[in-house]
Amino acid sequence: MHVSVLGAGTMGHGIAQVSAMAGHEVTMRDIEDEYVQRGLDAIEQNLQGGVDRNKVTEAEMSATLDRLSGTTSLEAAVSGADLVVEAVPEDMDLKRDTVSDVESLVDDDTIIASNTSSLSVTEIMSALDDPGRGVGLHFFNPVHIMGLVEVVVAEQTDAETLSFATEFVEGIDKTAIEVGDSPGFASSRLGVALGVEAMRMVQEGVASPRDIDASMELGYNHPMGPIELGDVVGLDVRLGILEYLREELGERFRPPQILKRKVRAGKLGKKTGEGFYVWEDGEIVGVSEDVMGR
Ligand code: NAD
Repeated sequence: MHVSVLGAGTMGHGIAQVSAMAGHEVTMRDIEDEYVQRGLDAIEQNLQGGVDRNKVTEAEMSATLDRLSGTTSLEAAVSGADLVVEAVPEDMDLKRDTVSDVESLVDDDTIIASNTSSLSVTEIMSALDDPGRGVGLHFFNPVHIMGLVEVVVAEQTDAETLSFATEFVEGIDKTAIEVGDSPGFASSRLGVALGVEAMRMVQEGVASPRDIDASMELGYNHPMGPIELGDVVGLDVRLGILEYLREELGERFRPPQILKRKVRAGKLGKKTGEGFYVWEDGEIVGVSEDVMGR
């Protein structure tokens, strides 16, 4: 198939990579040559990493790169595409304009997918004349490592589009789960629910961040505890998602004071060197002093 990926950023280049690795011809589009090049370079680096770790052969790497091209032209990117996946920034107007522009340039049976992590796919796809061809494909970062894709079924998604999307995901060697177009889909809603309860427990002094994380890592085999994960994702990002889910789903997602305090103080987690933990060179070196409780 010909797959077109719009956006060559964190997610776009990953989606382009896994699609090309699965044998599809892929065109990746961004708005500036340097962004396109940065995406292509990131793919090459990822593949080289795979070769170095004996996960990818030299032949697979060069065949994958041969199937990939980059452009700044939307028309060149989507013409002849069977599937277009948009991974442009998380902005409703931009996404609606993007899918609408795409629709004017593609065949009647081209499927149009959005990689939004939080916006309503139904609202994005209502910008289409034929919204039945629209669907959500929610990939996870880093795309070439993570095995899950949420197939988000919008109000208008038709049965053919849904089965096409599910088969595409299976064809790139990932597991598809089917989720209704509800805020936070399945993964963010559940992940954030665990994270917010863990923060409340720190606030109430039930246990320390390290012990709460250990309870999930060792007791439930989670690869990373919920407090550490919040620091890695960014506490500002977590707060934004919580505020959105609270508005849409109710008070159980109300952000705890401890989280608001951290964000106001600029203690955003790994990226600023302190959140619930203290970080140095990407590693935890201690627990933040202003974490209350034990
Ligand atoms: P990013 O900022 O890394 O990349 C976005 C890219 O889109 C940039 O390179 C930008 O130049 C480009 N762009 C802007 N306007 C464009 C246009 N009109 N056409 C083509 N490209 C355009 O962002 P990202 O993290 O890759 O996120 C992209 C989408 O994926 C968002 O909707 C986000 O919510 C979603 N998402 C992100 C993650 C994550 O962990 N980063 C996970 C799942 C989903």
